[in-house]
Amino acid sequence: MRAKDITEALAKGLPNEKNVGKVLIIGAGVAGLATAQMLRKSGVEVQILEATSRYGGRVHTLTDYGKTPIEAGAEFVHGGKSAWAELADIHHKTMLNINNFEDVYYFEQRLWSEEEAYAHEDFAKVDAYNSLIEEADFSDTEGFISMAQFLHVIDCPPNVRHIADAWLSVDYGTSSYRIDARALQKARQQWSAGEQNFYFEKAGFAELVEQAFADALPCVLLEKPITQIHYSEQGVKVETPAGEAWEGQAVVLTVPLGVLKKYLITFSPALPAEKEKAIETIGIDAGMKILLTFSKAFWTPEVGAIFGKGYIPEFYPSAKDGEAILTALVMGENASHLSKLGEEEAIKMALRELDAMLGKPDASTYFVKGKMIDWGNTPFQWGAYSYPSYQSEEARTVLAKPIPPLYFAGEATHTEGHFATVHGALETAYRAVCEILGK
Ligand SMILES: Cc1cc2nc3c(=O)[nH]c(=O)nc-3n(C[C@H](O)[C@H](O)[C@H](O)COP(=O)(O)OP(=O)(O)OC[C@H]3O[C@@H](n4cnc5c(N)ncnc54)[C@H](O)[C@@H]3O)c2cc1C
Repeated sequence: MRAKDITEALAKGLPNEKNVGKVLIIGAGVAGLATAQMLRKSGVEVQILEATSRYGGRVHTLTDYGKTPIEAGAEFVHGGKSAWAELADIHHKTMLNINNFEDVYYFEQRLWSEEEAYAHEDFAKVDAYNSLIEEADFSDTEGFISMAQFLHVIDCPPNVRHIADAWLSVDYGTSSYRIDARALQKARQQWSAGEQNFYFEKAGFAELVEQAFADALPCVLLEKPITQIHYSEQGVKVETPAGEAWEGQAVVLTVPLGVLKKYLITFSPALPAEKEKAIETIGIDAGMKILLTFSKAFWTPEVGAIFGKGYIPEFYPSAKDGEAILTALVMGENASHLSKLGEEEAIKMALRELDAMLGKPDASTYFVKGKMIDWGNTPFQWGAYSYPSYQSEEARTVLAKPIPPLYFAGEATHTEGHFATVHGALETAYRAVCEILGK
């Protein structure tokens, strides 16, 4: 799928030769908004029904936490070749490369700079897992091989093993023992968005959502949680628990996988058994960000991220104007644990871990305020982002398959390796629009 095709469809639409009538879209995240914008530009009437009181979904920029926008959800443009990167360019967002910053690693009871770490023989071995997983031959093996097992098989040294676990958990949104090595390998082979990662110099992601999908926004109705979907050859009807209903010729479901897993929407007729199995098979786990504001930065400006050993795998500076804010990113089992502890205790844990890594109480001394954004415990989300679980490649294809007039989009339905990303959500929107318009 070419980024240009998507940005052109957002700008001009696609030919509507089938004369498609009104389309209902459930969910106003990137997938829902992009679907609506492309259809609207193609001359199709659309109505977006969003459960919460805001649009954007897992793109959620906080404008009231720091002096500059802080991302509660998606924050990085993964790859410079994606449609999201192209939209950033079209809307004049300056993107800075995070790979230009230096990461810091905690092992053997101290912090190591990137240069020091890569000179350490054991660290070089942990880093090698990246190429080893890409080259691994799984043809003689059957069943689930977790990334935790894979690290064991390649003799990942125990003193640095937590670094590999940290990378895996933040990249894939769960603990390493839940990630299927084969599914991860496939996703890496399919990845075509580019290898560098970027952030916006000034703006938040929500600003780009507003600009890129400006024509879709008037079609959003907020606080309309859909719990019933009826679909047949005659058309579709969707309903909220309050008895409000909308009818159309087709419906595009873009709700998160976490919502589908909880069976919060009743389908009439029921979804085929293979769809239900696909929903169970694809993984999504707890995930959170903990924002930590300090009165002064106790890290140097070159630091891109600090990879730790405790409950929090990664801390990174996230303010855009030099304000001293660290974001702690936690996924999987650790996130479930911190979620149970609650915001206050989770913040204390983060400060304790930082102090322990630094070998002095800088974090607790300079701490001003904190905030936990617990995606695994957020209504209408119930998870962070879908991950490569056992047999998830086939399951994503099944989940994505339309049952006209019922269509599916959203990050978890991405079948070519870009799940769990903003540009992946965008690509699924394009696919759904092509299906509806018969392209
Ligand atoms: C902490 C975190 C960090 C991330 N970091 C990055 C990153 O750096 N880069 C990146 O590319 N991606 C990142 N992602 C992933 C990215 O945010 C998602 O892949 C993408 O935004 C998903 O878009 P979507 O439209 O598929 O789903 P969503 O954005 O979740 O949209 C679905 C919408 O459906 C609504 N909804 C749910 N149930 C109902 C219902 N019953 N009725 C009506 N509406 C309903 C929801 O409220 C939501 O608005 C991150 C995600 C998280 C959680």
